[in-house]
Amino acid sequence: MKRRLPTRMDSGATIAEARDVSLRLGGAVILDGVSLTVRTGEVLALVGPNGAGKSTLLGVLSGDHTPDTGAVHLAGEPLSHWSPVETAMRRAVMLQQSAISFPFSVADIVAMGRSPWHNTPRATHDEAAIQEALTTADITPFTHRTFNSLSGGERARVSLARALAQQTQLLLLDEPTAALDLHHQEAVLQLARAQAADADAVVVVVHDLNLAAGYADRVVVLDGGKVMAEGGPKEVLTAEVLSGVYRHPVEVWEHPGHGGPVILPRR
Ligand code: ADP
Ligand code: MG
Repeated sequence: MKRRLPTRMDSGATIAEARDVSLRLGGAVILDGVSLTVRTGEVLALVGPNGAGKSTLLGVLSGDHTPDTGAVHLAGEPLSHWSPVETAMRRAVMLQQSAISFPFSVADIVAMGRSPWHNTPRATHDEAAIQEALTTADITPFTHRTFNSLSGGERARVSLARALAQQTQLLLLDEPTAALDLHHQEAVLQLARAQAADADAVVVVVHDLNLAAGYADRVVVLDGGKVMAEGGPKEVLTAEVLSGVYRHPVEVWEHPGHGGPVILPRR
C-alpha cells in the first residue's frame, strides 16, 4: 500500500489536536471532555496528580487509545486516516514504563526508532539519526550493553533516544525526567526547547513543576480527566490552581532573577 510521507509543517501550525475527547476504561471515566491543541515550535507541559489521565491523553494523541467520543487530529487529518506506519512517521512516543523481555542491546532499541522509514528515501539518514540520538541522550558509552542491564535513568535515556531517532515533527514524552538526575533532567528539557526552536512540537509530561515553569511555552493542568487550567506558566502555575489539584498547599514565588514562578509545597 502507498504510504504518504510527511511534509514538515511551519512553526505555529497545529500538528495535533484533541477535541472534546472522552474515554472510559474499565467502567471508569478517565478522560472527560478534554480539548488540547499542540502547535509546532512549542513545548507543552502536561502536569497533574497521579491518575489525572496524563498518560491516557498522550495515548489518545499518539493513537494508542481510541476515544469513545470526540475527535483526534494529527498533521491536519483525523488520526484514523493514517496507517500505523504513517502515524509513526509523524509522531514519536516515549512511554513511561520501559521493561523489555528480550535481551535487546541499546543500539538495537535506538535503531527501532528508524523502522517507520524502512524502504523510504529517508532510510539513508538511519545511521546519522541513530548516532545523533545516542549523543543527544548521552548514552554512547552504553551502546553495546543490554537494555535490562541499565539503571532506571539510563533506560529512560535509551527510550528517549529511540524516540529521537524516529525524527518526527511531534514528540510525545511521558515523564522522561522521572528517573533522571538534575543534569539529565535539565538536558532533556533543553533538548525539548531545541526541538521546538527547529519547529518541532514537544508534549512532555512532568511532575517537577519547576521544570514546567522553566521550559514550557504552555502548561496544561489535568485533574480527574479534565483540563483544569491551560496557558503560559505564569498564568497557570499559581498557588490557587496547584493547591487545588494537588490537594496540598502550594506556594509560588517570583524568581528574583528571571521573574518566572518558583513552586514549592508548603512544609
Ligand atoms: P496519569 O498518567 O495522569 O498518572 P493515567 O492516564 O495513567 O494517569 O491513568 C488515569 C486513570 O485511569 C488512573 O486512575 C488509572 O488507574 C486508570 N486507568 C488507566 N488505564 C486503565 C485501564 N486499562 N483500565 C482501568 N483503569 C485504567
Ligand atoms: Mg502517567
